[in-house]
Amino acid sequence: MSTRRSVAFIGSECYPFVKTGGLGDVMYALPKALTKQNCDVKVILPRYKCIPWKYQEKMVYRGSFNMDLCADGRSFYVGIMEYVWDGVVYDFIDNEDFFGYGSPYTNLIDDIPRYCFFAKAALAALNYMNWIPDVIHCHDWQAALGPVFLRTLFAHTPIGNAKSILTIHNLRFQGIYNIETIKYWTNLPDYVFNKDALTQDWVNANLLKGGLNYCDMITTVSNTYAGEIQTPFYGEGLDAHLRFHARKLRGIVNGIDCDLWNSATDEKLAVPYDITDVLTKKRENKQAMQEQLGLVQDDHMFVVGLISRLTDQKGLDLVNAVISPMLDGHTQIVVLGTGDEKYENAFRHYEGSHKGMVCSNIMYDEGRAHRIYAGCDALLVPSLFEPCGLTQLIAMRYGTIPIVRETGGLKDTVEPYNQFNNTGNGFTFDRYESGLLLDAINRAKTLYFTNRWCWDEMVQRDMDKDVSWDSSAAQYRALYLELKP
Ligand code: ADP
Repeated sequence: MSTRRSVAFIGSECYPFVKTGGLGDVMYALPKALTKQNCDVKVILPRYKCIPWKYQEKMVYRGSFNMDLCADGRSFYVGIMEYVWDGVVYDFIDNEDFFGYGSPYTNLIDDIPRYCFFAKAALAALNYMNWIPDVIHCHDWQAALGPVFLRTLFAHTPIGNAKSILTIHNLRFQGIYNIETIKYWTNLPDYVFNKDALTQDWVNANLLKGGLNYCDMITTVSNTYAGEIQTPFYGEGLDAHLRFHARKLRGIVNGIDCDLWNSATDEKLAVPYDITDVLTKKRENKQAMQEQLGLVQDDHMFVVGLISRLTDQKGLDLVNAVISPMLDGHTQIVVLGTGDEKYENAFRHYEGSHKGMVCSNIMYDEGRAHRIYAGCDALLVPSLFEPCGLTQLIAMRYGTIPIVRETGGLKDTVEPYNQFNNTGNGFTFDRYESGLLLDAINRAKTLYFTNRWCWDEMVQRDMDKDVSWDSSAAQYRALYLELKP
């Protein structure tokens, strides 16, 4: 524990400033956990216009400079706005042209230039502030040019001494765009556009692929996913590239922030609860949720939740196929999510056709998410692929039993229930088939309705499970120590 390490996190989103999914949670919780383990952490983020004013107004101007960016010598303003909170320093890269509009991700035409700018500006800002960390830790494709710039244009600057880690939170998104455009916006030397680094095919470059090549270490967010992405099915076209770099690839499972997700102190809940009174208080939360959401008010119902981006990744075609057979008069379904129109409409349809038994909340709402985690008996996560998944961890912490497909982090974090020795944390199925999902739901229901004693024990076992960041943050720290400057 004695050696101190300094790390700069570079990524495109971070709770509570801006969050669209699990990456935002990790960018918030992991730095916080690392500061408790003898690490100095700076988090570098874009200063999006959509960051709430209550945070913007507390940011302090740290300096600014002009930075060359494009192949034709065009340069851009880089402002640094700082915000210190809970031992973590957040430095926001300010530029009106790139971040002065819309939500974080719009379309690649705009996103490619803004994240080329961001990755370079982040490194330049570290040099400017003269804060040279031992490690720069980049996240997903938006920051994947970090390691590429570090070993090329920044190699002979102070930051060039740092080691780099690239973490894959979701391999599906890679930042692929035509070579000419990326050459223009990065002014990177031609040799990085070879087929082992940035080049994807004759026309396109792939930012993530380049980053994976140039970083010192690759991590992804669970052990199982680290193996899966080296296979064609999960590899999203990069499986061969990842097999080639396998010796520097590790899986470290995510945790959740246990202060943020704490049912005993959660002010968003109707009634807070802990492991000692969960059985009665969860019922009260269920009743309050049923009332709020317009469901039939009956605490004997088996209530199943789904909190998710509504995209193909999340196994929603399976969910669609099992909704009708699930609804047996004793089961209710609560959906919270936004995403593909086809899924949004399908869930709206089910709410209309099963009034009082299905509630579809097609929205993004943090408070409601907390109340659904607390009010449901079980949570569905039947993903086609899932790098780690946080919703099953939050569910367990709130005494809600996860029903998951055995893939990626879901497999690593949810031990299947074993009826013979009464162990496990949830219900699981393996192949991607709706029949198997329905079977898992029915096994859960059977236990819930016919053997409540064992169900309740599992609820308490799940609440007791360590889903915090402590052990994973220690693994990241060990990795930082391994990467000697
Ligand atoms: P992904 O990153 O693939 O979207 P994760 O399971 O890793 O999935 O993380 C999802 C996070 O986003 C969780 O914290 C979950 O509670 C939250 N979330 C997802 N959809 C919504 C929503 N509609 N409203 C509020 N929170 C949501």
